[in-house]
Amino acid sequence: MKYIDIHTHTVIPKAQENRISFYNRIIGQETLDDLSHLEMFSVGIHPWFIPSGENNDQLLKLLWEKAKQPEVWMIGEAGLDKLHETPLERQLDLFEQQVLLAEELHKPLIIHCVKAWSELIALRKKIRPLSPWLIHGFRGKRELAEQLLKENIYLSFGEQFQPAALQTAWPTHLFLETDESKLDIREIYEKAAAALSVPIEILAGQIEQNLSLLFSGE
Ligand SMILES: [Zn+2]
Repeated sequence: MKYIDIHTHTVIPKAQENRISFYNRIIGQETLDDLSHLEMFSVGIHPWFIPSGENNDQLLKLLWEKAKQPEVWMIGEAGLDKLHETPLERQLDLFEQQVLLAEELHKPLIIHCVKAWSELIALRKKIRPLSPWLIHGFRGKRELAEQLLKENIYLSFGEQFQPAALQTAWPTHLFLETDESKLDIREIYEKAAAALSVPIEILAGQIEQNLSLLFSGE
């Protein structure tokens, strides 16, 4: 049985055999250079860390150089956050560019979205991406989960979630993550298995299947 942590900021030594962790790096804040011992990354321009001095082209150029590397499995986290001070227009421009990058590289896109769901869905309808989209840290209610599933968007849940939303994403569109939590991914699996009333082995087996679908581009 494997534990898959689809999104984490915590560096985990490779030695932990029964887990797969996707470690997130933020362009403009961090590089990949000090992490050659890790195998799997996502890299993106996070809406919280858009430097006000640099223009979008410089940031995107930096991202492109990293994103092509084979150890970068996903683009992101990228997205939209209406509670953050960066003007939404600039966030939208950078997000759209990252959607297109994910398309070009055929890599899934991992998304941070706060209070900008209609903009997110509108952009999806405009671009009709083939690369899968995955919302990370989903804490929304069942109705929002249903709306996103209708668009074939995957949802990843962390330490805090709405059980009804989790049940909606189960079985085919569900992932789990630690993000910045102090909990171990095993504890998140336990919480999710309890909320779904399924044995943890069943949950883990399903998430493994979801992972292979995520990377087969379906
Ligand atoms: Zn994160």
